[in-house]
Amino acid sequence: MTLADLLAAAATLGLERLDAQLLLLHALGRAQTDRAWLLAHDTDPVDPVPRQHFAHLCARRATAEPVAYILGHKEFFGLDLRVDKRVLVPRPETETLVEWALELISDQACRVIDLGTGSGAIALAIKKGRPAAFVEAVDTSGEALDVARANAQLLGLDVRFSQASWLSGATGPYDVIVSNPPYVAARDPHLVDLAHEPIRALAAGDDGLADIRIIVAQARAHLRPGGRLLLEHGYDQAAAVRGLLTAAGLDGAISRRDLSGIERCSGGKRPEQG
Ligand code: GLN
Repeated sequence: MTLADLLAAAATLGLERLDAQLLLLHALGRAQTDRAWLLAHDTDPVDPVPRQHFAHLCARRATAEPVAYILGHKEFFGLDLRVDKRVLVPRPETETLVEWALELISDQACRVIDLGTGSGAIALAIKKGRPAAFVEAVDTSGEALDVARANAQLLGLDVRFSQASWLSGATGPYDVIVSNPPYVAARDPHLVDLAHEPIRALAAGDDGLADIRIIVAQARAHLRPGGRLLLEHGYDQAAAVRGLLTAAGLDGAISRRDLSGIERCSGGKRPEQG
């Protein structure tokens, strides 16, 4: 069996070519950047041990387990994060939220909190980009916090993690509150495709807005005057989220598009007065 044979076998299992290449590199103990090497060596025979390892990885992927869980890490905003089934896989659309937050955080003693941090992706990317900011992050899941803390340690980033539901117990006042909360409607058929990821990080009530409502209701009291709340949400929730922000007394509710052109984040500002 050659490398090319193994990739062909993966294709018959329904694996995408890129996924199969990344899994094969992993099974061979080679860097994920070595795809060109694979192509150049496609007639090389493969030893039984990596061959069996690859077959096992392909079987996992064939059940729709995310490649990031199988490889054990995922790149997000230039950071290499450890991930496993205790946390949602960081997604590229969430980078839009980080970019927005970084624009608002001057490199001084800003206070920032990330709600429902999961792997720590957002909080760690902010701390990396704005080292002088004081960054806190919370999650209700102790398991997720274990992953986030390990990531912080591996990356040498000083973020203060604690176990809490949204802003309950938080102090502040914050300059920026960010969150990528669960926002998928509980009966959304799309959840079936995400069966390997923690459901409590994905599903939020009948309309997917249950957690966003709680966060928006809590935010104003924890923002300093002029401070912002930035939220990620579903592809069809921007208008509803702007409505919630405005109803909660936040000014200038606006949305931002992700790289697919979808209005993916919305934010509002606590008025300077009051
Ligand atoms: N973006 C994810 C998805 O729909 C959902 C993430 C979330 O609920 N925060 O695949």
